[in-house]
Amino acid sequence: MKKHNYSAGPCILPQEVFEKSVQAILNFNNSDLSILEISHRSKDFVAVMDEARTLVLELLGLEGKGYQALFLHGGASLEFLMVPYNLMKSDGKAAYLDTGTWANNAIKEAKHFGETVIVGSSKEQNYNHIPKDYSVPSDASYFHCTSNNTIFGTQMKSFPELNVPIVCDMSSDIFSRTLDFSKFDLIYAGAQKNMGPAGATLVVVKEEILGKSGRYIPSMLDYQKHIAAESMYNTPPVFPVYASLLTLQWLKNLGGIAAIEKINEAKAELLYAEIDRNPLFKGTAAVEDRSIMNATFLLNDESHAPIFDKMWKDAGISGLPGHRSVGGYRASMYNALPLESVQVLVDVMKKLEVAVNESVITA
Ligand SMILES: *Cc1c(COP(=O)(O)O)cnc(C)c1O
Repeated sequence: MKKHNYSAGPCILPQEVFEKSVQAILNFNNSDLSILEISHRSKDFVAVMDEARTLVLELLGLEGKGYQALFLHGGASLEFLMVPYNLMKSDGKAAYLDTGTWANNAIKEAKHFGETVIVGSSKEQNYNHIPKDYSVPSDASYFHCTSNNTIFGTQMKSFPELNVPIVCDMSSDIFSRTLDFSKFDLIYAGAQKNMGPAGATLVVVKEEILGKSGRYIPSMLDYQKHIAAESMYNTPPVFPVYASLLTLQWLKNLGGIAAIEKINEAKAELLYAEIDRNPLFKGTAAVEDRSIMNATFLLNDESHAPIFDKMWKDAGISGLPGHRSVGGYRASMYNALPLESVQVLVDVMKKLEVAVNESVITA
């Protein structure tokens, strides 16, 4: 039986994406060729790339608004570097909100390009919340934030109104909730959290912000070169792009982001309600900043860990241990995780409570 997969990434994808991927590996579009062996310049694959780029903009509500979608290599981690390369003025500065490990990694790269102003940080509290009162210098080349902090289980619920471009790492919550995406000038995401398998990186960029840094940009790192080449400057990650397209089509057929948001909220409510109700557990993130994608929680009494771990494994759950920097547990509830899987986890948490109460009575 398929596991209830709570992996933080690479993560669960819709079953139909796996099935269609298998079919395309064996015989893509009845071409008697595998998707793994065709030219990326073939008519069939160019159509895949075009549809994937168009569907991204359509789902985000950004069609005809001056944005371009790119599928690149290198993961979100390469974007930590490409963003300052392309956007930070050669004598300028950039503003960063420090909300966790990934934000920090982005800051580390930006520092090599110019002054990096950290406008807010929750580091002292081990990133258990999103800093709220911060101001962004009006002469910054851009403001960078991380919409969802995969490791710490916090999520930005609102974004500042600024007169500088807003860049957002949406790796772990892209396509999970409705937002006015036109507020952002550049959005990037590694595919493997909510969009597809590892190997592709999505960049959605407003074209008008490009070409202003005054720097020499190596070709492979230059968004304008990738745009001019229609996301085929070099061989793109053919199969990850195809599987991402299948996932985007699945999302569209479901009703798009508004439809999946309702399901994601229902899943998060179900689990957080149990974390708050069950006296054996506690959440680690500030309640108002809790992520609907990654719920982080601890056992109040560590001695219950062996029995709890056995229980959820026996229930067919996989990928629940928390990141080493937080400990405890992390339930990643990406788009493709069904509500039923969350119910299985909640039932296990209730079962643990019963077992602990019984062992107290019999002791
Ligand atoms: C996983 C993750 C990254 C790193 O992604 P890679 O594609 O592995 O480079 C960056 N930012 C966030 C928010 C993430 O969750």
